[in-house]
Amino acid sequence: MNCKMRKNIPILYIVVPCYNEQEVLPITSPLFQQKIVQLIGDGKIAEESRVLFVNDGSKDTTWELIQSLSAANVYIEGINLSRNRGHQNAVLAGLMEAKDLCDITISIDCDGQDDINAMDAMVDAYLDGCEVVYGVRSKRDTDTFFKRFTAEGFYKLLNWMGAEVVFNHADYRLVSSRVLEEFANFKEVNLFLRGMIPLVGFKSTAVYYERHERIAGESHYPLMKMLALAFDGITSLSVKPIRMITGLGASIAGLSMIGVIWAVIAHFTGHSVAGWASMISIVCFLGGIQLASLGIIGEYIGKIYMETKRRPRYIISERTAERADDGKGDGQGGK
Ligand code: UDP
Ligand code: MG
Repeated sequence: MNCKMRKNIPILYIVVPCYNEQEVLPITSPLFQQKIVQLIGDGKIAEESRVLFVNDGSKDTTWELIQSLSAANVYIEGINLSRNRGHQNAVLAGLMEAKDLCDITISIDCDGQDDINAMDAMVDAYLDGCEVVYGVRSKRDTDTFFKRFTAEGFYKLLNWMGAEVVFNHADYRLVSSRVLEEFANFKEVNLFLRGMIPLVGFKSTAVYYERHERIAGESHYPLMKMLALAFDGITSLSVKPIRMITGLGASIAGLSMIGVIWAVIAHFTGHSVAGWASMISIVCFLGGIQLASLGIIGEYIGKIYMETKRRPRYIISERTAERADDGKGDGQGGK
């Protein structure tokens, strides 16, 4: 890499969204903390670095756990969202909370699936001058065939539909505060972070790691939720589906012209029979296409509706750390 080396040792915040993770947290939180201590020891990050857990309105004892972990350990902090807002909003809340306190953030799931040791290479890439470092899964051997198939199909579908995402990259990534400062101006409520961060630009690179199995508990992303996320990602990042409708409309109109010519010729040559079967098929086919197209356009209108409300994307109800300036829980990405 031909980027210039950085002079100062950066403060790192590891941002970890947690939803009903009481079985997983006691296992993974020491790992995050050890990672911070090791990186400080290696002289790569500053002593003020922290792990920031974001409790996404868990229904179990996750928040109590985070509070006790933070009371017992200087390297651990937590924020509590006022209710469950979903993975993407939870990550955003953590990133926006951290951006004014540190130089770099690394977001990672709390279930131990993403290899914590990839963080060393991520920080190295930052020290080499990169502002965004994507964690990319090199293998998915431990995922079931079904999960792997659906997950990889998900990335292909997204890219094909015009939402550019890094293949096999989820939300394990290093982002510098400089990028987050710019990202705070992306005010949309339909969040799809992995597709939005590349839009900010700046120098980026990827770090490869192997994905493990979930340490405990269950995935919150069953097939339906993953399909919903893919659909959300596509409609938030691209208008290709609407263009496809236009294309489809134009092709069907073209075909209809042939049909019209054929009908006119049949009429004048005296072959016009009452073909109700073909008529019914065409009517049903077109009716189906029209409804599906309306649905897709409706999805975009729904998105516009949600955006115009400009509701807060998250509300922070509690913090483990006392801060002088407490006016940042507006969910609008800080001021
Ligand atoms: N998560 C969250 N809010 C939710 C659902 C999930 O903060 O509403 C967190 C969860 O605790 C985990 C991460 O998002 O740290 C990813 O979730 P999960 O491991 O269930 O997804 P998968 O890895 O199976 O795609
Ligand atoms: Mg997981």
